[in-house]
Amino acid sequence: MKQKSKDLQKRLSAKKASLGIVLKKNERIKKTIEKAASELTLVNEVLKQEDVPVQIMKQALTQNKDVEQNVAKAADDLNLVNVKLANEMAERIVIESELVNIKTDLAEVRDELLKAQVRGEEAQQIALQDVLTGLPNRASFEQGLDYGLIQAKRHGWGLAVLFIDIDKFKTINDSHGHDVGDQVLLMVANRLKSFVRDGDMVSRWGGDEFVCLLLEVKQEDDVTHIAEKLTNRIAKACDFNGTVLSIKTSIGIALYPADGETANILFKNADTAMYKAKGTEKRVVLFRELSEQKAG
Ligand code: GH3
Ligand code: MG
Repeated sequence: MKQKSKDLQKRLSAKKASLGIVLKKNERIKKTIEKAASELTLVNEVLKQEDVPVQIMKQALTQNKDVEQNVAKAADDLNLVNVKLANEMAERIVIESELVNIKTDLAEVRDELLKAQVRGEEAQQIALQDVLTGLPNRASFEQGLDYGLIQAKRHGWGLAVLFIDIDKFKTINDSHGHDVGDQVLLMVANRLKSFVRDGDMVSRWGGDEFVCLLLEVKQEDDVTHIAEKLTNRIAKACDFNGTVLSIKTSIGIALYPADGETANILFKNADTAMYKAKGTEKRVVLFRELSEQKAG
């Protein structure tokens, strides 16, 4: 479309040039008519005089005829020029309206492109979000953890990955329905979100599993303490459409750098620790405690 617009601009400039030529021709005809008029005046002056010699009179009459012919030719030329001028103007109007149409089309195409860009950005945002809870999804959390690890290595920070799983969630679904199950997931998501500090990250890993990334961890005890507070906060009784439930969770913790230096190892170890926490009174288990148990 841009090419078409360029072609039209070219045609418009060509029209301008040819219009210039026609106007110059018009100017020349005007001069011819002015010259003929002054010649005619001279001839009339001669004819008005008394006792003009026959020879002079003949010459004046011949001149008069020439001038008349010149004027007639100029009139014909002028007609032709007018026709050409009218054609040129009509063509110019057509080109100009084509240009206006192309500009409108270009603006529409640009609008569509902008809309597509916004849709793309929205789709990208949705691709990184869990639909039910609005929390960052697994892909988004993995990106966050990779970035967190880079920062931790650079600044010498400790990190903690918490794997959180709801206990007996299947039973909640089976006893109270899938909708209540969904509301439980939303409640857990909101309580987790409101608990962590700015910069820390909470994500829905899938099903009834959530993960948490805590940055700038100083001591192991701090993390255990946070995790215990978290399970207590989530366990606070909540009314789901008239059904009051206390939701129990199990949390496994892996610390960087002690329990692993890569995202995969930290996930795996936090998951292992979470399974150890299941069914125990403790509910919060550090991965380190497992290796100590084995050694002991
Ligand atoms: P455990 O105590 O060992 O964790 O057992 P559990 O019953 O919690 O079992 P598990 O974690 O394996 O089951 C998770 C269930 O969550 C299975 C699946 O039907 C249900 N689920 C997964 N996604 C959703 C969801 O989006 N909404 C609801 N309501 N249920 C879901
Ligand atoms: Mg579960």
